[in-house]
Amino acid sequence: MRPRVLIPAERIAARVRGLGTAIARDLAGGRDAPLLLLALLDGGFCFVADLARALPLPDVEIGFLRTSSYRGGTRSTGVVEREPVPAVAGRSVLIVDDILDTGRTLAAVRGDLTRAGAAAVRACVLLDKPARRIDPDGRADYVGFTIPDVFVIGYGLDHAGRFRHLPDLCVLDDG
Ligand code: 5GP
Ligand code: MG
Repeated sequence: MRPRVLIPAERIAARVRGLGTAIARDLAGGRDAPLLLLALLDGGFCFVADLARALPLPDVEIGFLRTSSYRGGTRSTGVVEREPVPAVAGRSVLIVDDILDTGRTLAAVRGDLTRAGAAAVRACVLLDKPARRIDPDGRADYVGFTIPDVFVIGYGLDHAGRFRHLPDLCVLDDG
């Protein structure tokens, strides 16, 4: 299996800067508490590292939440395993994930945060595959790139734990 570049690192960097500007303009945070970026692991680690540093805001809190719906393969299992969300009562939260696929992950985490009393819950994903959407509650307020129904790797995204280190977003070709 050989990675083929779908979106090169330079295009990702430019888009992340644009997202950072838009998010900072819309969601500066409240008087009492800064905006909480809640990054979904493992796939969101590259994206949140770059997005956080592209936010021209004086104060931001970053938290991490491990979620998983894939078990080594390239198709979602349909069950979203996840950690309990942190204390977010009254907070403005931005969920940051690598990719929006069926929508089940974002719907589940959004529901958890709402039940935990968050004042506002929004979501930012680097990639959106609208062709695969199952759960309409899995929607994102900020999207880096809309892509077709292909399995992508690189820039944090894996196949069975591999390829997360690639700086470009790639698809896996046979051969
Ligand atoms: P959803 O719950 O929306 O179906 O899936 C979201 C999660 O599935 C993402 O956070 C990501 O971890 C994983 N995922 C979905 N599509 C892809 C893909 O094309 N490549 C990789 N590596 N992971 C994906
Ligand atoms: Mg993920």
